[in-house]
Parts: sequence; structure tokens; C-alpha cells
Amino acid sequence: MRMRRRSRVVSKAHFLSMAKHKQSISRYKKSQVLFARAVKLMPGGVSSPVRSFQNVGLSPLFVRSGAGAWATDADGNKYIDYVMSYGPLIHGHAHPAIRAAVAKQMHRGSSFGFCSESEIQLAELIASAMPHVPMVRFVNSGTEAVMSAVRLARAAAGRSMIVKFAGAYHGHVDALLVSAGSGAVTHGHPSSPGIPESVTSDTSVVEFNNAGAIEEVFARYSGCIAAVLVEPIMGNIGVILPRPGYLEALRKMCDKEGTLLIFDEVMTGWRVARGGAQSLFDVRPDITCLGKIIGGGLPVGAYGGRTELMNRISPAGPVYQAGTLSGNPLAMAAGLASLRMLSSDEPYARLEALGARLEKGLKAAAASAGVPLAVARAGSMLTPFFLTDKAGGKVENCAKALSCDTAAFARFFKTMLDSGVLIPPSQFEAWFISLAHSQEDIDATIEKAAAAFKQLKIES
Ligand SMILES: *Cc1c(COP(=O)(O)O)cnc(C)c1O
Repeated sequence: MRMRRRSRVVSKAHFLSMAKHKQSISRYKKSQVLFARAVKLMPGGVSSPVRSFQNVGLSPLFVRSGAGAWATDADGNKYIDYVMSYGPLIHGHAHPAIRAAVAKQMHRGSSFGFCSESEIQLAELIASAMPHVPMVRFVNSGTEAVMSAVRLARAAAGRSMIVKFAGAYHGHVDALLVSAGSGAVTHGHPSSPGIPESVTSDTSVVEFNNAGAIEEVFARYSGCIAAVLVEPIMGNIGVILPRPGYLEALRKMCDKEGTLLIFDEVMTGWRVARGGAQSLFDVRPDITCLGKIIGGGLPVGAYGGRTELMNRISPAGPVYQAGTLSGNPLAMAAGLASLRMLSSDEPYARLEALGARLEKGLKAAAASAGVPLAVARAGSMLTPFFLTDKAGGKVENCAKALSCDTAAFARFFKTMLDSGVLIPPSQFEAWFISLAHSQEDIDATIEKAAAAFKQLKIES
């Protein structure tokens, strides 16, 4: 008798959990069916590892469309989107001006293999916002930009060693996939097989925000270091801000050693300010790498610097670098439309206000639920770090970021997804706010995050 009653109770609980499970399956049914097809055709079913939901224990979302701050998945679920294509969409999805510019260019032709005026216009816009980039070369991705910048730096310095920072991501360039962030850390391959040691033996990895560590490397390899390559605000291990004076110290050490300073502003360019992090901190890089926002959502990259340096690139100089679709007219049109809407300070004031509101709201919600959280933010890019350290504290380097509670993050991610908020499926990525996000979107997000933090506390 007792046994039967007990089993009835158990089976009711079991039934409820099954029902809940079923509901969550049906909510993402079309995405799951698409994933089953995709995984047979593409490694992990994705075209880039960051799109996989593997590390949060889910199958990836297939997105059908986007409008403004909102994205709609294959099943028709709508989300407030903070992924924003991992940064490029500062105007939100499918902005009318960008749509019109691309359609107009498509009408005239998508690629010619000849020069077009739009390249000049985009280069002029970049030069006017970034005084240290009077000359650029356009490429097709951020990866390509950094790869080419490193080649140029090595040629100019006549040295081969590159210094990078732990947790920094500069695209999937062979020599730079050492202690790399973004998908490389999320998926547990701090460096990748298929890269011979001979290719990475000239790469030195240093802890960010630690002036002593970089001084040590300069002392050990004096006269050998071609370039220091840095994300001036790190964004691929989660957002990490430079300590006051740190970038200035890098500049000074580079000058003393005859080493070039490369700022990888693929993420921060036009994101944290029109002139990028270099304008915020007033530090001059020798070479700047760009991408993401300057392509308005189309594939693009660029690297640039002073004329004397850039004229070392072929055909002006001997450093070879080329591209069939480089300076692609569609990408130039989208980029021009995007940057033209960012020509005043007003959009940045708005993004700062929205960012500050989200930061404050997330912090307060986490505190009231008793979830230890640090929110790192630069304008409209931010990362909530789920701290394991009860003492709290700031996340100032890769080691501290890696100590975060990724299991708590995974549960938070799932609750947010189910409640209609799209954030990157990794603790080690930045969230992006766009100009299409409204104050109401931010407040709704805070409310949903508050519920997710409470849920997290109940489950723990
Ligand atoms: C995204 C990113 C890259 C790589 O750009 P892709 O277009 O993905 O190749 C390089 N550096 C930084 C800082 C980035 O955020």
C-alpha cells in the first residue's frame, strides 16, 4: 500500500518533469530538426564554434530573422538580442538605411575586381575618426586584418617575435592561437592541434594588466620583439578593462625597444567610441586592426596606420597581401551607411546610458538574489561574470575570468533563453547593446535576469 502511494507521488513528479521537458523541446523543435540536418553536413552543425550551445548543454538556435533589437528563431520565438552578431550590429538588425545602401549597390553589381569609390569614402571616414589611421587596407575579416598586420609589423621591425595577452582573441591566425579567448577558450582548446610549434615559437603570452610581466618579457627578449598585439579593452574572455596607465606603459616600453604596438580594435572600433579605445585612452598604436562595425553587418576587416608604414604593403611596397573580394562594394556600402550614422557623439551618449542602466540593474538584481556577480562594461559592451570568489572583486585578467562559475552561467543562459533574452552562450563573451534597444527592452531584460538569478539561487 505504502509502496503504491509512494510510486504514485513519484510518477506524478516524473510526469510534471516530463511535461516541462516536452514543453522546452517543442519550443525549440524546428531549431532541433535543423540542427539534426546541419550536424551531418558541417562540423558540430555550425559555421563558427561560438554558435554552438555545446558547452551549455543545448543544441544551437537557428535564427530566421531580426528587426531592430529583436531576433526571431526558426520556431517563431522572439528574443531581445544582446549577441548582435557578436558586435557588428550597432544599429540593430536590418536597419533601413543599411538595407537601402546594400540594395542600391547590389543593383549595380556586387563585386568587380576593380577599384570603386566607396573604398575611398570608407577610408576617409576611418581616417577622420582615427588620426592614427590615415591609410588602410581593406580585407574580408578581422582574422585577416590581424594576420596581415602581424606580417607588416614583422617586416617593418625586421624581427619575428610577437607578444600577445592571455585570453586575447585575434581571430584564428595560427601564430596567435596560443592562450586564445572566445570560442577557443569556451570549447577548451587553449591552442589548437594542426599548428606546428615552429609557428607559435615566436609568440610570447603575457598576463594582461600586469606591467611587471611585460617588462620581464621585454628584458628577456630585448631586440627580438617585432610587436605587442593587444585588445586595448579585452572582449573575448569577457570584457576586461585596462588598468589606468597600463596602455600608456605599453606604448612607452614599445618606444624604448623599437617594438610596434598593434591595437586590435576589431571589436572596440566604433563600439566604445568613434575613434575606438585609442581615442578613449589617448594612446597611439602603430597599427590598428578593424572589422565588425565598419562592415555594417557584412564581412569586412581592415588594418591601417601611418602612411610610411602602410606603404610597405604591396603594390606600394614588398609586403604581400591580397584578396579577391577585399574592399567588396556591398560591404563598403553597408559600412558607409553604418559609420555615417555614427558621426556625432549622440549615439554614444545613448549607448552609454543604456549600458549603465543594464549594468546597474543586473548588479542590483544579482545582489538581491545573493548571486555573486561582477559586471565589467565599456559603453555598450559588457560581461556579467559569475564569481566563485565570495569576496567578489574585479575581473582584471584571464585567470580571474577562467575562475568564474561556468555551470551557474549555463543555467542562467538557459533561463534567459527560455524567457526570451538572447545572450552569447558562453561566460567568456561580451554582450552588445545596439541603438535599436529601448529603455523598455533594457528594463524587461533586468526583470528577466532578476527572475533567472532567483532561480539560480533556488537550484543551488
Ligand atoms: C572578432 C574579433 C576578431 C576576428 O574577427 P573575424 O571577423 O571573426 O575574423 C579579431 N580580433 C578581435 C578583437 C575580435 O573581437
